[in-house]
Amino acid sequence: MTASPEATATPTEPQIQVDRYQKLAERVLAGETISREDALSILTAPDIDVLPILSAGYQIRHRYFGRTVQLYFLMNAKSGLCPEDCHYCSQSKISTAPVPKYNILKRDDLMKAAEIAANQGAKTYCLVISARGPNEREMSAVEQIVPEIKQKYGLDICACLGLLNREQADRLKACGVDRVNHNLNTSEEHYADICTTHTYADRVQTLRHVRDAGMEMCSGGIIGMGESPEDVVSMAFDLRDLGVHSIPLNFLNAIEGTPLQGNMDLNANQCLKALAMFRFVNPDRELRISGGRELHLRSLQPMGLYVANSMFVGDYLTTKGQAPQADYDMITDLGFEVTQNIEPASA
Ligand code: SF4
Repeated sequence: MTASPEATATPTEPQIQVDRYQKLAERVLAGETISREDALSILTAPDIDVLPILSAGYQIRHRYFGRTVQLYFLMNAKSGLCPEDCHYCSQSKISTAPVPKYNILKRDDLMKAAEIAANQGAKTYCLVISARGPNEREMSAVEQIVPEIKQKYGLDICACLGLLNREQADRLKACGVDRVNHNLNTSEEHYADICTTHTYADRVQTLRHVRDAGMEMCSGGIIGMGESPEDVVSMAFDLRDLGVHSIPLNFLNAIEGTPLQGNMDLNANQCLKALAMFRFVNPDRELRISGGRELHLRSLQPMGLYVANSMFVGDYLTTKGQAPQADYDMITDLGFEVTQNIEPASA
């Protein structure tokens, strides 16, 4: 006798909730903001719901970004030597990780990196320094190099220089910086557990200066630092309320020698649910799969692009990324395409 499907199902196996996420996506596409409870339910959904969550999230991603993927290129223009104590960061003064230590690179090195970024199909060159905030020498170096890079390679510039005051933000805008990255990293409630040398409020203030100076805000976070699901939801809503344009979502690469070493709590399904939750809460914002992509998503990396629309190509600040060709192949295999257009389609 052939067993019916019902007879072979495990009695305790939960039902796959296709309709639930589809209805949530329809509400988002109709212009509604989902509630924090709904966001939490995505983040904490059982793994068997990952596919319907991604399918529903893909409809939102597709509305605003079609099948396009925006590539970013990171340049660590100054490494190590940072006086701050961000517990996840290998460049902090309290990290013993063997990272390169150098002051801001010379013009030729920064231009060479810009050439690589342009050749790799990146639209945006992310100029990053390890610092609490930029000193005068670093500000001047940025002011000099940005117009040159823009003129020669036509790249957009995102500067990540640490905490900024309003005057510094105005100077960055004046020299042609398009966007500033300054991550919230985690929730306000969890912030003191990952950093004691500056506050969440300091970071929010920098983002306000960036916005008031007329630049775009890029801000995201890191998942896997011992935060609760509620913390992750709280960060997603804070980013929404701040009106950030671009959200890089990192998955902790717990580097040996940092206070968070050994934190390897994440799995690929959790990362996918987090990406999807950010897409539901920030439907028309650029969502970038960032550090830890290869480490935590592993063979499920392509799935992340069904909800995220952007990623870094090449290496991260102090860790290696996969070869650019593997990224291009993944994009092509998905039937997606690299785009230079950073504006989302309007709803
Ligand atoms: S301020 Fe930036 S470079 Fe410095 S420790 Fe924190 S994350 Fe690292």
